[in-house]
Amino acid sequence: KGPVLQIKNLRKVFGGKIHAVDGVDLEVRQRETLALVGESGCGKSTVARLALRLTAPTEGTIAFEGTDITGFSQWKLKPIRRKLQFVFQDPYSSLDPRVTAGASVTEPLFVHGLVGLGAKRRQKAGELMEKVGLSSKHVDQWPRQFSGGQRQRLGIIRAFSMEPRLIIADEPVSALDVSVRSQVINLLQDLQETVGTAYLFISHDMATVKHIADRIAVMYLGRIMESAPKEVFFKVPHHPYSQALLSAVPSSHPLRKRKRFVLPGDPPSPAKTLSGCRFHPRCPMAVERCRSDVPQLRDVGDDHQVACHFAAPNPLGAGERSADSK
Ligand code: SF4
Ligand code: MG
Repeated sequence: KGPVLQIKNLRKVFGGKIHAVDGVDLEVRQRETLALVGESGCGKSTVARLALRLTAPTEGTIAFEGTDITGFSQWKLKPIRRKLQFVFQDPYSSLDPRVTAGASVTEPLFVHGLVGLGAKRRQKAGELMEKVGLSSKHVDQWPRQFSGGQRQRLGIIRAFSMEPRLIIADEPVSALDVSVRSQVINLLQDLQETVGTAYLFISHDMATVKHIADRIAVMYLGRIMESAPKEVFFKVPHHPYSQALLSAVPSSHPLRKRKRFVLPGDPPSPAKTLSGCRFHPRCPMAVERCRSDVPQLRDVGDDHQVACHFAAPNPLGAGERSADSK
């Protein structure tokens, strides 16, 4: 089976000049977790909204299970939405505060005609809530009567009620207390295993990503800088930006704190148009060529791609460097 989601040359320009997403290629494979990482403002949430077709791209294509959905009307998207669900950072963006928990979690099923009204719907709601460790006695409570972690559980089971092929999760645990974060992550993993769902998991937190991802894609100022299987990425990150991101991950051992590599220069702003490599103003390895030539993503072996002029073949694998135009 082909990829569940395939994005090609995706662009989104706001107000004619802000290049929030600037030529992104991305693929989420069946049943995997692809983590899309980067600092806030890099365009990762815009990629999520584009992939969900909540906003239209300026250019490029989005294919879901082999079907190009880029130009689909909301009506044509309806059958796709059964299989393509989302979980957002703030559960209030997926849970209407004026709708009871039970009605919320069964809403997608109801919209698609998969559950009736009244007692049947309440019973289904209770079953769903129990799957995520919530009591079916609470079907008639309001979202505000649940804790943040419980609300996120409601949002998660609502997305899973449709047994989707793909869930796009934008920072699903970032707003939660550290103490409940790992429980919610375990829940996400258990449900993924049971249903066979893939995740596009958007996060700025490398520790979470290290736990949950199968593959990693790093985004900077609207472009993908590196993509690799998790083990490869954490062992041999090639891109200078990935190396900087990883050096900021605290070591679990308090006496062996990793030396923090602080990026020089301004944080990224998509309002500025940059020639050459988007990372060049902050890159410690930048040379003259980096100011003019845009590095393309190229294979370095081991299912690993890097967009840097200095990316060399992977020392761990037998992969060959693909032909590059420059
Ligand atoms: Fe740094 Fe140049 Fe590589 Fe960009 S292309 S990451 S500026 S060395
Ligand atoms: Mg975001």
